Amino acid sequence: MNLRRHLPAALLLLAIAALPLLAERLRGHPERCEMDGVALDPAFRVRVAEDGGATHAFCGVTCAESWIALRRAVPALVLVTDGVSGRAIDARTAWFVRTLGNVSDGAPDAIRVFERKEDAERHAHAHGGRVLTGSGRPFGGAGVRDATEQH
Ligand SMILES: [Zn+2]
Repeated sequence: MNLRRHLPAALLLLAIAALPLLAERLRGHPERCEMDGVALDPAFRVRVAEDGGATHAFCGVTCAESWIALRRAVPALVLVTDGVSGRAIDARTAWFVRTLGNVSDGAPDAIRVFERKEDAERHAHAHGGRVLTGSGRPFGGAGVRDATEQH
């Protein structure tokens, strides 16, 4: 084939293929997960702050944990999103529930986050999930939650 003749058409096709991406950009930069690049849903967002002040956003708990493991990063702060209020909360004070994969709420993985223990237990009960405790907790296990579990 004649490359010189087909190249402009190929470039035009590429430009057309890129249009949706461009449109997305113009709509105002949807936030993307730094682990797998998917457009992230603020309802499940996890943010990791490093000591130097850099922050990173992820689509969910699993991606954030994978990224931390790959980078061998020690985050200064991990913020997760309460599944009820949508508030950003410190991961050390959050309740995590591992669901059994039959919850169709659009979340990127099987871990749900709650600010209040009652909400976590209700979700676990309703969907056959399990509230994660001790070393089973994401982001390092130990923390405030273990201290409050004593009583
Ligand atoms: Zn992700």
